[in-house]
Amino acid sequence: MNNKLYEYTKIDDHIWQIAEDEGVYCTLVKGRKLAVLIDTGYGKRDLRAFIESNISTPYIVVNSHGHPDYIGGNHWFDIVYALPEEWDVIQYFEEGKPRQYDLREIRIGQKISLGDMNMVIVFLAGHTKGSIGFFIPEKELLIAGDALNEGLWLFNYGSLSMNDLYETIKNTLKLDFKEYICGHSSKKYIKKNLIPHIRNIEKLRVDDAARRNTIGFETYCSTYEDCNGKWRSFLLLIRFRQTKGL
Ligand SMILES: [Zn+2]
Repeated sequence: MNNKLYEYTKIDDHIWQIAEDEGVYCTLVKGRKLAVLIDTGYGKRDLRAFIESNISTPYIVVNSHGHPDYIGGNHWFDIVYALPEEWDVIQYFEEGKPRQYDLREIRIGQKISLGDMNMVIVFLAGHTKGSIGFFIPEKELLIAGDALNEGLWLFNYGSLSMNDLYETIKNTLKLDFKEYICGHSSKKYIKKNLIPHIRNIEKLRVDDAARRNTIGFETYCSTYEDCNGKWRSFLLLIRFRQTKGL
């Protein structure tokens, strides 16, 4: 669907995955009384104009984490919320550019009422140390940013260890959701797709992993397919040393 500046995919009537570039999405959750924009893409086009032409309620803007493809459009807005643990990651990827918006605190466990549904902030640390997810109990849905992507990236400033990620995924399974969406895809995933991530980390031996260059970082890559061959292989990139500047 094309709506002036952006194409978007309706996860349902209330949740849109808005595409800036291929594979770069932000998510708009449209409640009856309040909307939430999760992430802002690279910020190449006027995201604010798009959002405000498609909602009739007040809205807030929240960053799932501080990577450039998630915070780049923050400058279109006056106020953006993020977990304080992530603020230095945001600052790092702003690369010294003067900040034109007010960065404010959001907390783990914070419940945001959208009128006809609620959103609960959950901790998804690993991909970065202050990554958060957005759990909507009424829809049994988790919006996960980059924390639970098909390809899990663990490198660059602010990322945590394999063990931290492992604990996060195991804790995430305890949440009462059935489906989740990720920041680099417009499709919904079912919860059990997280199991291969756990198996991948458990089986990973760095010596067996392939080395590759990923945006200037020398990384290790591990893939895993579930025992039914039903779910595709996963990519896991492990922090290693930086080989050149970004
Ligand atoms: Zn990211």
